[in-house]
This record gives sequence, structure tokens and C-alpha cells, in this order.
Amino acid sequence: MSRIDPHSFADDAQPRVRRLDLDVDLDFDRRVLSGEAVLTLAGAGEGPLDLDTKGLAIRTVATEGGTAVPFELADEEPILGRRLRLTLPSGTRRVAIRYETSPEAVALQWLDPAQTAGGAHPFLYSQCQAIHARTLIPLQDTPAIRVTYGAALTVPDPLSAVMSAGPAGDRPGPRPGTRTFLFEMPQPIPSYLFALAAGRLAARDLSPRARVHAEPEVVETAAREFAGVEEMIRTAERLFGPYPWERYDLLVLPPSFPYGGMENPRMTFLTPTVITGDRSLVDVVAHELAHSWTGNLVTNATMEHFWLNEGATTWAERRILEALHGEETAVLSWAIGETALKLAFERFGVDSPLTKLRTDLKGVDPDDAFSSIPYEKGSRFFALLERAAGRERFDRFVGDYIDRFRFTSITSEAFLAFLDERLPGLSASVRAGEWLSATGMPSNAPVFRSTRLEELTGLAARFADGTRPDPAAVARWTPSETLVYLQHVPRPLPGAACAGLESLFGFLGQGNHELLVEGLTIAAASDWEPAFVRIRDVLLSVGRMKYLRPLFKALGGHPRTRALAREIYAAARPRYHALSRRVVESTLAAYPT
Ligand SMILES: [Zn+2]
Repeated sequence: MSRIDPHSFADDAQPRVRRLDLDVDLDFDRRVLSGEAVLTLAGAGEGPLDLDTKGLAIRTVATEGGTAVPFELADEEPILGRRLRLTLPSGTRRVAIRYETSPEAVALQWLDPAQTAGGAHPFLYSQCQAIHARTLIPLQDTPAIRVTYGAALTVPDPLSAVMSAGPAGDRPGPRPGTRTFLFEMPQPIPSYLFALAAGRLAARDLSPRARVHAEPEVVETAAREFAGVEEMIRTAERLFGPYPWERYDLLVLPPSFPYGGMENPRMTFLTPTVITGDRSLVDVVAHELAHSWTGNLVTNATMEHFWLNEGATTWAERRILEALHGEETAVLSWAIGETALKLAFERFGVDSPLTKLRTDLKGVDPDDAFSSIPYEKGSRFFALLERAAGRERFDRFVGDYIDRFRFTSITSEAFLAFLDERLPGLSASVRAGEWLSATGMPSNAPVFRSTRLEELTGLAARFADGTRPDPAAVARWTPSETLVYLQHVPRPLPGAACAGLESLFGFLGQGNHELLVEGLTIAAASDWEPAFVRIRDVLLSVGRMKYLRPLFKALGGHPRTRALAREIYAAARPRYHALSRRVVESTLAAYPT
């Protein structure tokens, strides 16, 4: 036997699942999914088939013909969960597993009506990355294996269900007061891209192939915010080839969603914090859209090669932004990424093995390894390759890479081999081995500069000697310019300086969460009391990990702010996603005692 992924029980010597047919009931009262998963194998199988499960109660397993299949759930392993071993009778093509999820399933967040914009109906959404699909479905939960799927989701009236798949109609449910929504996903996906949501939903078309879904209270604002998405898709197509998933829909979730966006194919899941009214945070959409090629089409074989997904996508995102808004915008985006990278190196330490691109995650929970490093160090490696090869040649290489590996899952080593084949000598000339296997940042990392960036960082550096930007100029700054400036302002600050920043930027009243949270982070680190109410508001309403981590970390500097942080977390915890809780708890645990 050989395991193909340190985070899965999937075994190379066993049959591969090729298709999944799911028929489940979404029980909002008990907070469980129950029903049946039918797995179709790539060929007739026999003997052991190991599947990943976590928290699933397995009721029965049977072949297509109804023969009971012996099964055994192994003991729980801390990161992986429980191996479900089926013993398939000779000639098995399909097995049906009747099962139920646990109310604690990490992949699912069940929201009370009070946590939604409408306030009247519950809401459910899934987040399977990195290895949480196994809390939802018994399957080979590794990105090395792809499946197509069909699904029937039964929800109580008046809710509706959506999936990262093609809608295939709906019908009255098996019980009065329920409705069953049908889906078909013809393109094979890795398990972490399986996604569903259910709630009171409305939709608006953005173009013939793009639509935004959200709660009815939010959908009009969302449609205005994302009106430019078709132009973005066309720009991405000019760079990376025809859009391969037919539709590009967006789902705006309630604010507890732990990520900015999740690139579920055909339907990106988004935090509502990207809705600012001025379209200034649509770079999150550029990122998720870019995943349609890098990540979803060409996928990392395991989480040890996550930089292939995120580094390529962050580089692609900035190419889309550059094509849409010019080089200056892209440089500011690289600069904002540089700050995130610096914080990630501080968090792990530059010598940590988690600062390598190609990681060794045996015994490591991928959620603990998650950071900006695969995104920002990875994208810098791509940018270095682009500069060394020249843009035209590198763009041709990227096109060939996407064509060669579409609908497959690859390793870092396979990427390098392909690079050597298509652009011989390039990987050696940029010391690719060091980029992949060494900790910290290689000395030949590309630098992104512009006059505007130097002005802003120079101005921020002179903050300490009392230099302040001219208020009339500040009023004309773009949100990215303001963010770069604020990120470079030193901290902690005296109270008077915090008040000065507030009068210049009005960050307490900001609707743009990037600026709001950066301002609040400065205030938190400075123990500046006038911001406490707003800090509490934000932390009680938003579950996006990108904001929780720095804000809770900044509250760790003073006894008074530490007490505030603990008090806020006690109140916010029930509203946070399980992933967000882990981030906050590890941040609070690092506070000085
Ligand atoms: Zn991404």
C-alpha cells in the first residue's frame, strides 16, 4: 500500500473514485446532513477501499445490487479523522453509503437567523479547503483525486440551495414543506472544491455567464459592486485562455465566512466585507477568478504543494489588475502583499520550515500551516521567472502549463520538470531549488517599485518626526494608497497621534474593511480607547481570519486591551466559524501572561 497524500487515507493500490452522487437532507434543527453518497469507481474493484471521514456516522454500505459491504471505522487520528475501510466484493463498480454528519462538522457553518442579513431564516454554507470535505462526505479527500458529481439537496421551505456545480432544476421534497434542489458537475474536481450553501437567496445577472447570489437584502448592492465582473473574466481570458467552467457565479455569504473568498468552481464564495460601495476591493474577485485556471484547473497534488495553487494565482491576480488598472495599481498590490509576507515571517520565524514553498506536512494540520507565504513568496517566484524569461516567453509557458496539466493535480517537482523542459536553464538561473526548499526569502527576490509607492512609504516613515500628509491630498488618495500608507505607519502610537490619524483618515467610520481594520489595528496596538467600541463591533460581526488575526494580535500589547480581547472573544466565539476560532485561540494563547 502507499498513501498518496499525508492528509488522506487514500491508497494508490486501491480503486479510485471517479464520480459521486449525493442525496442529502439539510436538517437545520439538528444541524446535520443525512442521506446517501454513491461512489462510482474508475473500474471494477475488489478488496479494501479506504475513505476519509471525520465525525461521520456510517449507517449502511451496499453495492449497486444491494449486497451489504463490510466496513470498519478505524480509531480517530488527530488531524486525519477516521479511516473508513470498505471491503468490496469482486466486480464492485458502485457503492452506496448511508450516513450522517456531526453537528460539529468543520466544513459546515450553520447560522442562526440573527446571523444573517434578513434575520428571519437560518443559513448554511460549506468550506471544504483544506481537508474538511471528509466532515461532509465519506470520500478520498485528497486533491490528487478528482470526481464529477451529481447532488440532490433537500431544504425546508422557503430556503433554496446552491452549489459549485450546474443547477439541474428542483422538485417538491420527500416531505411536506421541503424542496429538493438538483445539481450536476460535469467537470472533475478535487474534493476541497466541493461546495454548497442554503438560505434565503436571491440572484441578479451580471452578464450572460455571470450571476451574483446573496440574501435578498444584499443582492442589489452586491450586483452594483460586482458589475465589472464580465470585463474581468474577458481580461483573464486574454491572459490565460478561454474560461473553462462555463459559468462564473458569485455567492455573497453572511459576515462570519472565514476567508475573503473561496474559489469554488462556477461559484466563488465571498465575504461581504469586499462590498465597499466603490468597487475598491474587487481584487479578491480577481484572485478567485484567476483560480479558475491556476488551482481549479491545474491543482496542487497535496497541501505540501499549496504554493502552486496560491503563488500562481496571486501572480495571475496581479496580472489581471495590471491589465485592468495599470502598472501602478499592480505595484501597490505587490506592496500590500509584502506587508502580509513580512507578518507571516514574523509569525513563524524566518527559519521555520513553514516558510518553505515546498513544505513537509506529515503530522502538520494544513490549517496551522496556512499563511501568506505560499501566496506571496510563491507569487514572487512566479514574478522572478517572468522577469528572467521575459514576459512574452513566460506567458507562453504559463499557457502551455495550463494546457498540459488541465484537470490534473501536480507536485512542485512536476512543475520544475515542466519548466526545465519548456524553458531550459531558467530554473537553475533563478536558483529555483532554493526558492522551493530553503526557508526565508531568497536574496534574488524581485522588488516592486514605483515613484508613488516610494512617496507613500517615505511619508509614512516620517510619521515619527511629526510629518503628516496634506489633508487635501489624502482626500484624493485611492483606497490602496491609503492602505499602503497606514500599513507603514509605526505603532504603537501616543493617543494624540491616533486621534490625528483618525481626523485625517476617519478610519472609525470606514466602510472599506481593509482601511478600517488597519486603522483599528494601529489603535489596538496603541491602547487608544476611542476605538474600542468600533473594535468590538467589527470583531463581533466579521469572521474573516485575515482581519481577526492582526486585530486580536494587536490587542495583546496592554493589560487593558488583552482584557478587552478576551471579553470580546467570549461573546463572539459562538458566531465564529471553527477555523476562525482556531486562529483567535492561538493568538490569545500567545499573549504574555
Ligand atoms: Zn487563493
